[in-house]
Amino acid sequence: MRVATTHSELLAARRSLSGSVGVVMTMGALHDGHLALVRAARAEHPTVIATIFVNPTQFGANEDLSRYPRTLDADKAMLEAEGVDLLFAPRGEVVYPAGFQTTVKVGAIASMYEGAARPTHFDGVATVVLKLLNMTRPDVAYFGQKDAQQVTVIRRMVYDLNVPVSIAVVPTAREHDGLALSSRNRFLSEDERRIAPALQRALASAASAYDSGTHEIEALRSAARSVLHTAGITTVDYLDIVDPATFAPLTGTVDGPLLVVSAIRVGSVRLLDNLLLPQTLNTRDGLTANLGAVSDESFELR
Ligand code: AMP
Repeated sequence: MRVATTHSELLAARRSLSGSVGVVMTMGALHDGHLALVRAARAEHPTVIATIFVNPTQFGANEDLSRYPRTLDADKAMLEAEGVDLLFAPRGEVVYPAGFQTTVKVGAIASMYEGAARPTHFDGVATVVLKLLNMTRPDVAYFGQKDAQQVTVIRRMVYDLNVPVSIAVVPTAREHDGLALSSRNRFLSEDERRIAPALQRALASAASAYDSGTHEIEALRSAARSVLHTAGITTVDYLDIVDPATFAPLTGTVDGPLLVVSAIRVGSVRLLDNLLLPQTLNTRDGLTANLGAVSDESFELR
């Protein structure tokens, strides 16, 4: 695996590559969820590029960037073992050189749900993703369903700004008890870790209500909420049912596809999860066609 840390090293390495390229962008502290993206890219392209960059512009003023886990040596070993060809692991000033002043401004979706909790977050994400796409020039970029709103933001940006890349979405990788893998899980105490899987059980409870014929949004939300309540989870940032393409909250009775999204706090740790309904859509193809599907045209950009 080649490792590039500067822009010129990356450009030289990228120029030497031929054939299709898949890219996986991460902030490091890698786990099996990230590796699921790498494996999907590996299966579909002769060349896989991974990036590791803890992007300061997606952290809010009240969020502790220095607390973000950094495990670069272990990350490198994992990527190498998965057969990644090129790792781009730049320092901050490589991505944001002195005088940097041009950013992507995301519209309405950036102020909902994760964006409401973190007002500057998605502008920072969109800006760094666009920069990394321009630097790595992949054919396909792989993102996790785990961060469904991020996928929708990126699909929208790619469509709106005519970025020549395809976006692929990989299902959420989970622990044996259903907890979505996340670099934040390491901050859960033993007791909190026992409570945390209730988030996935809450989504599953909405799914089984849906499967048994309840398509009334309020009833689906209550099914999920009651699981959180029973588990003693009182800090629910949001638990809603939205249109997967726009994240607009749904009301009334809907036949789907619909996305159950939630963020809760367990102790000091904020946990996110989501589930697309009907459940059969929680596959690579179902997600790629439904999460952030701006229009048919958006799948034909390349
Ligand atoms: P991060 O390093 O947290 O910014 O995540 C990098 C990429 O990995 C994003 O596309 C995430 O959605 C994805 N990812 C993180 N956790 C998971 C997971 N449990 N399953 C699938 N993808 C994930």
